[in-house]
Amino acid sequence: MIAIDGPAGSGKTTIASLLAEYLGAVYLDTGVLYRAVTLLAQRRNLNTDDGPTLASLIESGAIALESAAVPSGRSLAVLIDGEDVSDHLRTPEIDRSVSAYSALPEVRAALLPIQREFAAERRVVMAGRDIASVVFPDAGVQIYLDASLEERARRRWLQQQQAANPMSLEAVQADLARRDEIDSSREHSPLTRADEAVHVQTDGKSIADVVTEVAAIAEAVH
Ligand code: C5P
Repeated sequence: MIAIDGPAGSGKTTIASLLAEYLGAVYLDTGVLYRAVTLLAQRRNLNTDDGPTLASLIESGAIALESAAVPSGRSLAVLIDGEDVSDHLRTPEIDRSVSAYSALPEVRAALLPIQREFAAERRVVMAGRDIASVVFPDAGVQIYLDASLEERARRRWLQQQQAANPMSLEAVQADLARRDEIDSSREHSPLTRADEAVHVQTDGKSIADVVTEVAAIAEAVH
């Protein structure tokens, strides 16, 4: 189990998926679970006062992970009530409200078994905000991936240039800053660097440099 935490735009998805490929492990981006909860809430007209209802929906299996059969390069699909919603989770609407839903303690508790059971069956590189601090505090390898707000905003801004209505750099930066603030200051499982986690600052480094650095940390432990 390799746990990689860090703020939005720190490069978790890029680095963790390459690392998983290199190590022959499966990559789980736990952000998709919180994004799926947000989409589920939108579809059922539930708001952030409805944490217990959302939790019981999750506990009764409304959200699931599945090995993707589609030749999309994704190895995992996220399902809501059996429907693959993986391609509907990165909308500006979900970006705007996901932090409010992920702050709900009932939702976080209900998603824990999904994450733990997933890792019980395979070698996993798991990325999120609280993997080393809460989900897998015993993970043998713990990485905290970081970058300045400006660098993270620039990366996200570049990523969404192909979208129908690309946002301005200022808007992307404001959105990230707002999400960081909610994710870091929430009462339950805030984004935090676990004591054992190795801090990897990625400003000014290429993807290859960061993968090499993180792989060396992982190999030093094993
Ligand atoms: O990683 P990503 O930006 O897709 O995550 C979306 C949101 O999900 C984060 O802003 C955070 O609110 C929440 N999240 C979380 N704990 C995790 C992963 C994501 O609270 N382990």
